[in-house]
Amino acid sequence: MSGAGKIKAPRGTSDVLGEQAAARAVVEERARALLEDAGYERIETPTFEATELFARGVGASTDIVQKEMYTFDDASGRSLTLRPEGTAPVCRAYVEHGMHKLRQPVKLWYCSSFFRHERAQAGRYRQFWQVGAEALGSEDPALDAESIALLARLLEDLGVAQVRLRLSSLGGHAARREYRERLSEHLRANEERLSEDVRARIDQNPLRAFDSEHPGTREAMRSAPLLSEHLSAQDAEHFAEVRARLDAAGIVYEIDPTLVRGLDYYTRTVFELTSEELGAQSGVGGGGRYDGLVQELGGPPTAGIGWAAGIERILLAGAVTPEAPAPVDLFVAYDGVADHAPVAAYALLTQARAAGLRARMELAGRSLKNQLGYANTLQSRYVAIFADDGQVALKDMGDGSQQTLGADEVVHAVLRGLHAL
Ligand code: AMP
Repeated sequence: MSGAGKIKAPRGTSDVLGEQAAARAVVEERARALLEDAGYERIETPTFEATELFARGVGASTDIVQKEMYTFDDASGRSLTLRPEGTAPVCRAYVEHGMHKLRQPVKLWYCSSFFRHERAQAGRYRQFWQVGAEALGSEDPALDAESIALLARLLEDLGVAQVRLRLSSLGGHAARREYRERLSEHLRANEERLSEDVRARIDQNPLRAFDSEHPGTREAMRSAPLLSEHLSAQDAEHFAEVRARLDAAGIVYEIDPTLVRGLDYYTRTVFELTSEELGAQSGVGGGGRYDGLVQELGGPPTAGIGWAAGIERILLAGAVTPEAPAPVDLFVAYDGVADHAPVAAYALLTQARAAGLRARMELAGRSLKNQLGYANTLQSRYVAIFADDGQVALKDMGDGSQQTLGADEVVHAVLRGLHAL
């Protein structure tokens, strides 16, 4: 065989090993408990979707759709895209399964991986994981408050440090359309100070100018009209009601009228949670209302609100300690000299597992001495050693006592011993 070069995981992706995997499991389990207790049901959508879903759902002028999607044609020539976010797929599923006929709101949560062709750096990857929660079919401001409170609670439970919650309202579609025009006018009047990027999108997506780090653009944005000053009476009322409920729940937030999220579908309430721990990529989670999205995707007019939080960033900014693995109940050791011993040991391992014991044995032909050392490392409660004559010496590692038994008696003796504890 010719020596082949090593193949590495693609840039911006990484393997999740050992403790990292265990820490992620803690995040997922905590999210599951919190969200399912609040009436959210798990949903799994496919890893790839028709490209059209994101082009229409996320918005053609967004960074995600313009630059960041992993899009490919499959063997039958259909354009597919690895999901860059979770809200559009959940809305697609809501329409596809006629969920508007269920009792509203329909509340769904997910924990999945997403794909964006971004500049990879600490806290920003090309494949990353999000926990997300979406609630469809109600405009009730209590649903906004519940959704935000659940995210804040999740981050708090996971020890995410120095969290800031920023909140704003983008208003409804009509107010937003009108506001965009005013903002475009403002940008055009200040065109020479703007970054090239912002200038190119004055008409397409003027709101994104608020996100710019470019000094001239920031300067120009200081005197920009604010959306919060252009909300309709109804939208302003809705926002006040959301705030009243957040106040009632004791949730601390800051109103930030410049908060614009990078996706086009948001209406009314938007929010973002950041952590000082994270440096440049400070966003831990965020979301908002998307009252027009289901209709945009071919469904009935349906309100919706949701959020997503990045698991890698939660782990970077949080204090998640995975539980230590449960101790082994029985280690089955054998002396390789006797031919029948490995087979008999394996039979015992199988019996022990069938009886619900956490059982292990040597699987790479090491010496008996080495096996016993490993059993110690695993902190096994019992060790069974097969002797040449087929008898088993069963050692209680707690008190050091030992008894000789037939192979068939071992599982019973261990169960008895464990129950006596
Ligand atoms: P978004 O879907 O852009 O609103 O992002 C929601 C959350 O997902 C962010 O606050 C981050 O925690 C996380 N996130 C978004 N993009 C990435 C990425 N490229 N790498 C890691 N985490 C990300």
